[in-house]
Amino acid sequence: MTDSTGSPSGGGGMGAEELFDLTIIGGGPVGLFAAFYAGLRQMKTKIIDSLEELGGQLTTLYPEKFIFDVAGFPKVLARDLAHQLIQQAMQANPAVALGETVRHLEPLGDADNPRYRIMSDKGSHLTRTLMICAGAGAFSPKKLRIPEAPGLENRGLFYACRSKAAFAGKRVLIVGGGDSAVDWSLNLRDTAESITLIHRRNQFRAHEESVRQLQATDVKILTFFEIKSLVGGGGGEQGLTAAVIENSQTKEVRTLEVDAVLVQIGFDTSLGPIKEWPLKVERGQIQVNSHMETALPGVFAAGDVAAYEGKLKLIATGFGEAAMAVNFAKVRVDPKAKFFPGHSSEMTAQHESVVTV
Ligand code: FAD
Repeated sequence: MTDSTGSPSGGGGMGAEELFDLTIIGGGPVGLFAAFYAGLRQMKTKIIDSLEELGGQLTTLYPEKFIFDVAGFPKVLARDLAHQLIQQAMQANPAVALGETVRHLEPLGDADNPRYRIMSDKGSHLTRTLMICAGAGAFSPKKLRIPEAPGLENRGLFYACRSKAAFAGKRVLIVGGGDSAVDWSLNLRDTAESITLIHRRNQFRAHEESVRQLQATDVKILTFFEIKSLVGGGGGEQGLTAAVIENSQTKEVRTLEVDAVLVQIGFDTSLGPIKEWPLKVERGQIQVNSHMETALPGVFAAGDVAAYEGKLKLIATGFGEAAMAVNFAKVRVDPKAKFFPGHSSEMTAQHESVVTV
């Protein structure tokens, strides 16, 4: 959700030139904890993420797996941990800009009073400090590698379901074997005229219970099938009309008359243009000092993307890094502020004043 007004509850977007104390690039577990911590330190904070939902790898890559090494949880589903982190982060009502990929950084101000303009694919954001919590980089959906695919994108071929209405009354082909493919096959049943799900294997990665539910519906499931080509994309408004699919075992080829194809075959990640920023980036990670600060003053990094001697890419260590980075960012923004935040258990009055849910 982006808000072109730039209001703290709404996010960034084109023309959102309101100045924030801290802008966090990446709403994965580490970015979310950083947002909570910044709220505790009463910083005006914004989170930007390329995905349409918060949670990073937890929600995108392994929502149904249990995690055993997060302090305080004997075991927790990744999806549930993301939910708790989102609730905790939203207490101080940070601005959230989703579906927006950060690309460029323009330094403003000077080393004593740094300010930055962050440019994304949707607009720009002004901030005093920023924290890069970008993990392995921005997630983008894996696309079909057939020549006609780019021309049919959003003309019958989709890589995300932003609105169920786009599939209303349509014959829909869904591609994939993970949670997203199976969940959308279930979810679009009340909207689409018919649904066919194809998967290149005969084992689904999706949650067993969801697969069991799907098998009890009228969704047609075809395993070992992949898309060979798409038909349509003629002149004018004409979009997709059919998909040609092939069975990898038997080589059987079928033509399915469909109006829409929803491809859910996973994500690629890339740090993209962030690699070109004047930071020390090696093998996809950004070097930080003991303050979690990068080579640019006021630009911090934490979580999987941050590198230093002894680095462990774990959620537990990322949380500690986020707390450190926020406290150093606080001092950057307000040099009179103490680095040590105090104990949250003793901040009830102050904390309650920023808590809105
Ligand atoms: P991420 O979770 O990767 O989040 C980064 C976010 O930044 C993403 O949402 C991305 O969209 C966004 N982003 C990146 N670039 C941009 C950009 N340019 N513009 C806008 N947004 C951007 N760790 C454990 O501690 N315990 C475990 O049991 C465990 N199990 C795992 C199991 C699997 C299958 C996997 C894949 C990982 C596992 N991990 C585990 C690792 C853990 O998930 C990561 O350490 C953690 O997610 C890192 O969090 P992060 O916030 O740094 O990055």
